[in-house]
Amino acid sequence: MSVTPPRRVVVIGGGVTGLTVAYRLSIAGAAIEVTVLEAGSAAGGKLRSVAVGDLVLPAGADSFLARKPWAVDLCKELGIELETPGATGAHLWTDAGLVPLIKDAPFGIPGDIGDLFRWPGLSAAGKRRAAQDLLRRARKSDDDESLGSLLRRRFGDEATDLAVGPLLAGLYAGDVDRLSVRATFPDLAVWERWQGSLFRGSQATSKAARRSQLGPMFVRPRGGVERLTDTLIERLGDRVRTGAAVTAVEPGHITLDDGGRIEADAIVITTPAHEASRLLTAASPDVGANLAGIGYASTGVVLMVYERDTQAGLPDGTGFVVPRGKAPMTAATWLSSKWPADAFDTRAVVRCYVGAVGEEDILDADDADLIEACARHLAAVVRLPDMPEQVAVVRWPASMPQYDVGHLDRVASTRAA
Ligand SMILES: Cc1cc2nc3c(=O)[nH]c(=O)nc-3n(C[C@H](O)[C@H](O)[C@H](O)COP(=O)(O)OP(=O)(O)OC[C@H]3O[C@@H](n4cnc5c(N)ncnc54)[C@H](O)[C@@H]3O)c2cc1C
Repeated sequence: MSVTPPRRVVVIGGGVTGLTVAYRLSIAGAAIEVTVLEAGSAAGGKLRSVAVGDLVLPAGADSFLARKPWAVDLCKELGIELETPGATGAHLWTDAGLVPLIKDAPFGIPGDIGDLFRWPGLSAAGKRRAAQDLLRRARKSDDDESLGSLLRRRFGDEATDLAVGPLLAGLYAGDVDRLSVRATFPDLAVWERWQGSLFRGSQATSKAARRSQLGPMFVRPRGGVERLTDTLIERLGDRVRTGAAVTAVEPGHITLDDGGRIEADAIVITTPAHEASRLLTAASPDVGANLAGIGYASTGVVLMVYERDTQAGLPDGTGFVVPRGKAPMTAATWLSSKWPADAFDTRAVVRCYVGAVGEEDILDADDADLIEACARHLAAVVRLPDMPEQVAVVRWPASMPQYDVGHLDRVASTRAA
C-alpha cells in the first residue's frame, strides 16, 4: 500500500525543534508546503541571547553535547563552523569554598582509585561510604528507578547530595530523587549491571574515551548557539510566521489567536509538553492528560559583567555546581573562560543559574535581590568585586522538562494513544 505524503504541513513552535523539522521537510521535496507558526515576536525559542551593556550573552542554551550527534551534524550540514570551549573542568561549591571536580570523571563519577578515596568535597566518612561501591552487589531488577535511588545505593547520601547529584540533577534543574535513570543517564544502570559498580563503569568509560581520543564534551556554533536557529530561519524564509499563537488543534486544521484558521494535512507540535497538552486535550484527551503529567521546572539566569581586569580572578575551568540549598544559584558558568571573546577584554563575565524543582521560590524575588544574592555569594568564593558593572536577569517559567521515574512509559503510552 502506498502512503501519500502530506502536502500542507503546519509546525507549531519556532524553537530549534520546530525549525529543524520544518527545514528537513522543506528539503524533502518541493511538493511539501511547510509553515512554522511561532507565538513569540521572534523564532528561536530557548536559543536566545540578550544584550548586557555592550555585550550580547546567551540567555538560554549556550552549547550542545558533542557526543549527541544531531545538533552537531545539523550544523555541519548547514555549513556552520563549530567551536570548542576555551576552558575545561569545573568546581563544586562546598562549605569550605570551591573545590575542583575530579577531572576525566564521566558524569562526575571517579574512575581512578585515588580519586575515589580523595573525592573532593566529601568527609572521610562520606569517602569511605562511597568506596563501598566497589563491594556492594549490583541491583538485580531492570525496572526504572530514580537517580537518587541508584546513587544512594552505590555511594551513600553524602556523595549523592554533595557531589554527583548537583552535577547530574542540575543539568535538568531536577530533583535527584525523582529523575528517572532510564530517561536521563541510562549508562549508569548499565555500568552497575555489567561492571558491578559505578566506579568500574566510569573507569572503563574513561579508558575507552582515551583510546578513541574523544574530543571535548561541549561545542557550539562559532559566535553562539543562535547561529543555528538564525541559519534555519534564513533558509526557511517566509515559511516562518511569528506572532502566530495557535489556540486549538483539530483534525485537518489549526486555529490562531486572531481567529484565523489554517488547513493542514499534517500538524507537528513542538511546543513544551504543557502547551501541547492544552492544544491536544480536546482532540485527544488521553494524549492531553499524558502530556500534562510531565512536570516543568522554572529557572532563570543572572548574567553579570564585571569591571576590567577581573577575568584573572576566576579560577580555572568553566564554573561550578552547587549542592541543593547551599547558595542562591544552582550553578554558575564563567562565560568569559568557556567562550572567550575579544569583546570581553579583561572582564569576567559570569552566568548564574537560579531555580530548580523544589527551589523555585527564589524566582519570586525581584531582579535587584536576585542580583545582589548571586553577586554576594560569588564574591565570597571567587576573587570578584562585590557587584558587577552590567547585569541582566532572564526568567524562564516552566522551562525545564522533568524526566521523572516512569517518563519513558509515559512517552510510550502517548505514542500508542
Ligand atoms: C536557561 C537554560 C539553559 C539551557 N542550556 C542548555 C544547554 O546549554 N545545552 C542544551 O542542549 N540545552 C540547554 N537548555 C535546554 C534547551 O534550550 C531546550 O531543550 C531547547 O532549546 C528546546 O527547544 P524546543 O524547540 O524544543 O523548544 P522551545 O525552545 O521551548 O521552543 C518552543 C517554541 O514554541 C513556541 N510556542 C509555544 N506555544 C505556542 C503556541 N501555542 N503557538 C505557537 N508557538 C508556540 C514558543 O514561543 C517557543 O518559541 C537550556 C534551557 C534553559 C532554559
